[in-house]
Amino acid sequence: MNPFIQLGIRHDIVNAISELGFENPTPIQEQSIPVLLTGSNDFVGLAQTGTGKTAAFGLPLLELLDFEENHPQALVLCPTRELCLQITNDIKNYAKQMNNVHVVAVYGGASISDQLRQIKRGVQIVVATPGRMLDIINRKAIDFSQVKFVVLDEADEMLNMGFQEDIDNILSTTPDEKKTWLFSATMPAEVRRIAKKYMDEPFELTMGTKNTGNANIEHEYYIVRARDKYAAFKRIVDFNPDIFGIVFCRTKIETQDIAEALIKDGYNADSLHGDLSQQQRDKVMKRYRERNLQLLIATDVAARGIDVNDVTHVINYSLPDEVENYTHRSGRTARAGKTGVSIAIVNAKELGKIRQIERVIGKKFVKAEIPSGFDVCEKQLFSIVHKVHNVTVNEEQIEQYLPRIIEEFKDVSKEDFIKRFASIEFNRFLDYYQNAPDLNAGVEEGRTRFEDRGERTSGGKSAYTRLFINLGSVDEFNRGDLLGYICNTTKISGRTVGKIDVKGVYSFFEVPHEDVEKVMSSYKDIEFKGRPVRIEISGEGTSERREGGGYRGGGERREGGYRGGERREGGGYRGGGERREGGNRGGERREGGGGFRDFSGKRREDRQDPERRRRF
Ligand code: AMP
Repeated sequence: MNPFIQLGIRHDIVNAISELGFENPTPIQEQSIPVLLTGSNDFVGLAQTGTGKTAAFGLPLLELLDFEENHPQALVLCPTRELCLQITNDIKNYAKQMNNVHVVAVYGGASISDQLRQIKRGVQIVVATPGRMLDIINRKAIDFSQVKFVVLDEADEMLNMGFQEDIDNILSTTPDEKKTWLFSATMPAEVRRIAKKYMDEPFELTMGTKNTGNANIEHEYYIVRARDKYAAFKRIVDFNPDIFGIVFCRTKIETQDIAEALIKDGYNADSLHGDLSQQQRDKVMKRYRERNLQLLIATDVAARGIDVNDVTHVINYSLPDEVENYTHRSGRTARAGKTGVSIAIVNAKELGKIRQIERVIGKKFVKAEIPSGFDVCEKQLFSIVHKVHNVTVNEEQIEQYLPRIIEEFKDVSKEDFIKRFASIEFNRFLDYYQNAPDLNAGVEEGRTRFEDRGERTSGGKSAYTRLFINLGSVDEFNRGDLLGYICNTTKISGRTVGKIDVKGVYSFFEVPHEDVEKVMSSYKDIEFKGRPVRIEISGEGTSERREGGGYRGGGERREGGYRGGERREGGGYRGGGERREGGNRGGERREGGGGFRDFSGKRREDRQDPERRRRF
């Protein structure tokens, strides 16, 4: 039986949501739908956006309201126009096979007369932002005296935006007996207070731990010098060829500057901030949603309610002033069960803030290294190789040209052909990244950083030992989880743990030499899901090859090439994560300043841009 039917949802709704691809309920739907379907509880759901909460309240509303009656029976309040339209649209979609369901979106920045007209025609579900709703109430254009359910969606955002008083006023026009369902990503004291004020012994549901961001988000930080921030940011973007990201800045000016610089550098980027007209905003959002933009540069306020799936990265170009905002920012990725990365680019002085955020979200950040120019080139090259491998050939169209193409290459062997083809892109990348400087900055919390050759050193000596552990992604560990697990078991500080590299059935992590004993003995009799946990010094008795030689400390240097070091984690083309050794790295370093391509493969020759660098 369809699991939604089992939850108590009727066939015509289930058919409609099946068309939307909802096969199984998300955890919040599974837990909240049966409760809400009773229609007799107030409800508090602590859940991030992207967890499926719209259907969690939308489906029960469709079950509980009487659509024979044409007056407002449910009011959904949410913080932004985008979210308002999204919720309206979602509910309409769920109700596609039902008759006489009228849902109206009420939001600012659009014609009020249109909205009034729709209300007049008859509506059962009103989805609204508080300001415009109050305006309509004040015009006495709506009657909420028969409202049975009020949903406060993203309650924390609404309070952040100063809607407390509006909400009070709106709710005072609804009957006392109505049921109130509140959803919030975080539960600060103000949200607690409104929950207390409007609700009677609400049923509480927490998805994940309180104040914790989505469990599928990995949090990473990079330490750079302020003057290198933009270059470092571009390098991170270039290292992630398929990035579809939101970049957060603190101010409108910064947002504009970054977007302009990126556009100039050939990226598909645009900015979203408060000074844009609604029309401009819609245009930017449309391009982003349709993936004609790869990077959306936004301020916190402008990005509220952005509801786009498949965002791969959230980049905190500047950390938010309010720690709470970090949760909202990072919640824009890893939606609907996907994974995502939230990146903070900080200077050494901002580490305290990272620790503060860690406390709020209850998760550790992983310190990551800005990839070298060579890493970027290699990653981009293999991204292209994979694209070529997977491209769909339009046989019909290409056929007419094939004889000429084949003629052109008749004297070229397959191997030579591949080399030439690969070089077209590779040469260009190498040019751009010639003389790439190391952008990682500073000494962090008493330890020197990863040096050029991939070895951490302290006072000239290698300070870290790389350990193997027989747990990996199949055990549902990501780097953050593994860090937490190691710290909990060994009681060593998370700050002293170096690079973590999570593979399928095993992982690697670095600890200072002096902690090796402690770590190994802590895991002596430890089991994980009935399996003994095994820790070994990397390269001793494991089947994993030691990459590039000499990783394990003792001041050993790697042979073959400048990079030789650990690569950044995070997958990529290599699949199994296996590394090549030595190789063609030839000792030279390369730079270029990045920004060599956009989605369409367009690229620019004018990478070096001292002007712009000064501006940041
Ligand atoms: P929401 O948190 O309501 O904004 O939902 C996030 C995304 O997940 C939306 O694109 C929904 O269409 C999608 N979604 C919600 N519930 C399900 C489900 N049960 N199965 C698949 N996708 C879902």
